[in-house]
Amino acid sequence: MPPETAAIPGAVERIRQRMRDAARRSGRPAEDVLLIAVSKTRGAEAIQAAYDAGVRHFGENRVQEWEGKKAQAASLAGSVFHLIGHLQRNKARRAVALFGRIDSVDSIALATRLDQFAAEADRILPVLIEVHLSEEPEKTGIEPRMLGELARSIHDCRYLNLRGLMTVPPWRDDPEGSRHYFRQLRELRDETARHLGHALPVLSMGMTHDFEIAIEEGATEVRVGTGIFGGRSGSADP
Ligand SMILES: *Cc1c(COP(=O)(O)O)cnc(C)c1O
Repeated sequence: MPPETAAIPGAVERIRQRMRDAARRSGRPAEDVLLIAVSKTRGAEAIQAAYDAGVRHFGENRVQEWEGKKAQAASLAGSVFHLIGHLQRNKARRAVALFGRIDSVDSIALATRLDQFAAEADRILPVLIEVHLSEEPEKTGIEPRMLGELARSIHDCRYLNLRGLMTVPPWRDDPEGSRHYFRQLRELRDETARHLGHALPVLSMGMTHDFEIAIEEGATEVRVGTGIFGGRSGSADP
């Protein structure tokens, strides 16, 4: 085992401990918060080590990358693979075949495609809407003012099951800087659920440097990459 792989079980345990502490601080049961290990750019051994440490949810950013790695999924029985990166419409069919949940739906056009391919595959596809909360123009996700309409149209898709919202706030050196984005996502979730008359239990927010703040603000899922697997080579990052 390469040294980085050997470090993974301990890293998973430390992240889980910090998750429990953050949940306790905010008066929430630790079981309320799910750990998604972000395995983009990681190889089979690293993913297997996280699985052996009890991780059952994995996040990947790119359809093609996971397609190449998917052969190993056979040894990861019972896992759910989440697409957490931007999905182009022309890859929607493959995404439906490859992922258990799509966490980055950001347009009605994409939702319509996913619904069509889920129908063909005869499965109900759980999805999240990715919301773009910062002023940075290059980030993906839907603008908050368009959220209601997208949520309604997904709600009306027979083969999609809208579970909640996801966001990636802009990088801040101080993780406290993410707090108001997390709070805003929770408020948008509450408002959208009220309008739909349908619970939206999932809030996917928080990464290695700010997941504790996200849990304090109501995250039900945190997406942790480097905190589990160590540093990524910058070039491979989207
Ligand atoms: C890479 C990535 C993460 C994990 O980031 P870390 O800082 O490595 O924990 C979480 N969410 C998304 C959408 C990502 O692309």
